[in-house]
Amino acid sequence: MSPKSLNVKKDAESESATDLRPGDFPIGSPQSRAAARLRLQGIGGMGKGSPECICFPEDEQPFFCYPVQERVAARLKCPLHGDRFKVPRFYLYVAKWYREKEPLRIRKKSPQYQKAWSAGFPPDLWPATLAISSSLI
Ligand SMILES: [Zn+2]
Repeated sequence: MSPKSLNVKKDAESESATDLRPGDFPIGSPQSRAAARLRLQGIGGMGKGSPECICFPEDEQPFFCYPVQERVAARLKCPLHGDRFKVPRFYLYVAKWYREKEPLRIRKKSPQYQKAWSAGFPPDLWPATLAISSSLI
């Protein structure tokens, strides 16, 4: 049994009334087959890339310069799909010169990647600045 089969009820509840389903059309009709294809491709209201989806694209998994970035990004869940990227991930040290180029690299990514990144790291709040509290010293 696949894990997806346990989410049938959840998936059905989260569908919007405007999503087209194969069952909305006569069996075997071209419209029914087209609706089934769209569902399989994830196109439509519930698919990755839908307006509400803030997942990273399957073929563009996020790259984090710091482990804390991953923890922040992982805490934010997609309202449609839950986890927004694949875990577990391993961390490698990222050199300063590479970190400085990261905003430029993100701007070259797909619109869905940029939307997913901005959801976790709003441009007006990121990059964070280092703050040292006197109570911790
Ligand atoms: Zn999503």
